[in-house]
Amino acid sequence: MSEADPRRAIPRTDVLLGEARLLAAAQHLGHDVVRHAVVSAQGRARRGEIRPADVLEDAVSTLPVRASSLTPLLNATGVVVHTNIGRAPLSPAALRAVADASGHVDVELDLRTGERGRRGAGAVAALREAVPEAEAALVVNNGAAALVLATTALAAGREVVVSRGEMVEIGDGFRLPDLIASTGARLREVGTTNRTHVGDYLDAVGPDTGCILKVHPSNFRVDGFVASVGLEELRDARRPDGSVVPLVADIGSGLLTHDAVLPEEPDATTSLRAGATLVTASGDKLLGGPQAGLVLGRAEAVERLRRHPLARALRVDKLTLAALEATLRGPVTPVASALHLTADQVRPRTDRLAAALGREVVAVVGRVGGGGAPGVPLPGWAVEVPVAVVARLRIPADDVPVVLARVEDGRGLVDLRCVPSDRDADVERAVRAALAATGGSSSP
Ligand SMILES: *Cc1c(COP(=O)(O)O)cnc(C)c1O
Repeated sequence: MSEADPRRAIPRTDVLLGEARLLAAAQHLGHDVVRHAVVSAQGRARRGEIRPADVLEDAVSTLPVRASSLTPLLNATGVVVHTNIGRAPLSPAALRAVADASGHVDVELDLRTGERGRRGAGAVAALREAVPEAEAALVVNNGAAALVLATTALAAGREVVVSRGEMVEIGDGFRLPDLIASTGARLREVGTTNRTHVGDYLDAVGPDTGCILKVHPSNFRVDGFVASVGLEELRDARRPDGSVVPLVADIGSGLLTHDAVLPEEPDATTSLRAGATLVTASGDKLLGGPQAGLVLGRAEAVERLRRHPLARALRVDKLTLAALEATLRGPVTPVASALHLTADQVRPRTDRLAAALGREVVAVVGRVGGGGAPGVPLPGWAVEVPVAVVARLRIPADDVPVVLARVEDGRGLVDLRCVPSDRDADVERAVRAALAATGGSSSP
């Protein structure tokens, strides 16, 4: 290398790593990530792809935006509970609680005595206040875990009586019968796909019955010649020796009390009043909290689950407990807001967005999502965009957020139902950029 070799002008690694912007980046991305960006940029300069003077800029520009590869996005699909995008967004209260709990907290410590405390006592207390019918409560990792723990603790090596009309697939190929079989309990299927009667259950109950399971088919509907059995008809089912058979109700969605917008959606309070021994549900569907599995019900049954060795493998972390408690005690959740938003309420925001973009407003029907109430329409309004814009909106860019819109009947739709109202301007910027990039006009 001669004195005149421009490669000699490439800044040294330690000099670059000492630059304020890269020092700051290392704070949240980690030293190795920043070093990799620097070494790559130096490599490009050495190969003559960039000028030595541009190495710092190049390194900065190739740094990832955030430490996690998960890309935040705005939900403009009109689907309230969307599993592929992380179901419920946390409320500001829950977010704050998560941040507060992220260091050391008294999650399992009694501060008065300095002794070990009951893990998650605050979240359990909040659940019991929200559902006074529940004598006790337990929080586990997710709805599936709650169901697995309940059937394991009550029926491993014995039978779980369940209707053929409730043998559902939860999603992504996970099927309820397989889940229960994995616990070592045997499925005792009763009735048919469309009709099951109380006698079908009672005929199946015997000395080997561990529990009766009622599953809410939360992601599909069967209409027509159908019959199913209510919890109240099964509450007194007894084995031949006279012992009462525990009745487990998997309600799925996590509604704690009845919601008039979702008349047919089961809730924990009503299910317990109707005679369920235990109710299991998800924390991140209609409850609007973090991923969690809730178990509510009779004290003796909940205690049996809590003491089962499997409970330790399904336990939740402090962040989940913090978010759940704050969700239960806190203000209206984003999920509840989106669910209860009327067409009239979303119209002015939609009109403003359409006017700003020079697009049309169209009437649409939002959905609750796979998390519950599949048949319930949520009437609303959306801004119509070319279909190509929907794909473009998913491409991460530096200056605009990712927006997930939907395609329906050959139209792209931007639905503000689930977008926080203080983010409308961000949606506008993103759609404007996507329209420009796809040749759909609307650049100012
Ligand atoms: C969603 C759902 C589950 C699974 O809950 P996860 O929290 O996703 O594990 C189980 N049963 C029913 C009825 C559901 O709707």
